[in-house]
Amino acid sequence: MSGIVLIISAPSGSGKSTLTNELRRIVPNLEFSISYTTRPPRGSEQSGREYFFITRNEFKRMISEDEFLEWAEVFGNYYGTAKRFLREATARGHDLLLDIDVQGAAQVKNRVGDAVSIFVLPPSRQELERRLRRRAEADDDLQRQLMGDGARLFNTEAIIQRRLQTASHEIENFAQYDYILVNDRLEESIDILKSIVEAERLKRSRAVLSPRDEAVLAVANRARREQMMPQIETILATFDLSGHPTVTE
Ligand code: ADP
Ligand code: 5GP
Repeated sequence: MSGIVLIISAPSGSGKSTLTNELRRIVPNLEFSISYTTRPPRGSEQSGREYFFITRNEFKRMISEDEFLEWAEVFGNYYGTAKRFLREATARGHDLLLDIDVQGAAQVKNRVGDAVSIFVLPPSRQELERRLRRRAEADDDLQRQLMGDGARLFNTEAIIQRRLQTASHEIENFAQYDYILVNDRLEESIDILKSIVEAERLKRSRAVLSPRDEAVLAVANRARREQMMPQIETILATFDLSGHPTVTE
């Protein structure tokens, strides 16, 4: 039986990496697909750990040899998920977690019919801006330590504003996702995320459900998009997106 493909998307700065790193630590038999990208490494990132950092020519070669399950251009750089991660996770009977953008999520949903998708939202635009700035400051400190005063900086107004604008466009696509996770309090978000994975595993197993299983399903169900609409409306308003977008199903 093939494993579950879990897609997680979020506007940059929502806390998706923080959440997925923790999820990988606490959930067994869940593999993480390391994407290929043409963007330069940020802060302490290492090739083969956060991403495989490759050149545009190498990326184009991978496209032409049909090595990607999906790929997209994000912030002017190419990002792609190699098919081999899905092959290898399936061979081991493991589930696979993909941290990809809304364009990639749509492609995977088309190719892998029963993929499960989760969209992470920040509690508000203001909080997203705070998180983006905080992270950019931390990345800049590290860059300066490594490269000196000539370091390429990330906490520039242009970069922050561009990411906020892109966030609004990405959030417009929330309706194509199965679950919505509002990343307010981190511990709670991690619990919900873990429950979603466990619930999807339970749905595919034939085991008789225990009271604990029922409780896990209930937590996951509350994060289903339909259930989350009132909370989503409030968040959309902070991004000037009230009268939310057309559901693209
Ligand atoms: P993303 O992967 O979505 O771009 P990160 O995981 O890098 O975002 O998080 C962006 C910043 O927000 C980081 O500084 C991180 O520590 C912080 N952060 C993440 N989750 C929360 C949370 N629930 N509450 C407050 N800060 C958070
Ligand atoms: P960052 O550069 O901040 O790490 O990521 C920028 C965006 O690219 C995020 O939305 C992230 O989810 C997305 N991304 C990362 N890897 C992939 C990938 O393999 N495919 C697609 N489509 N998007 C990706």
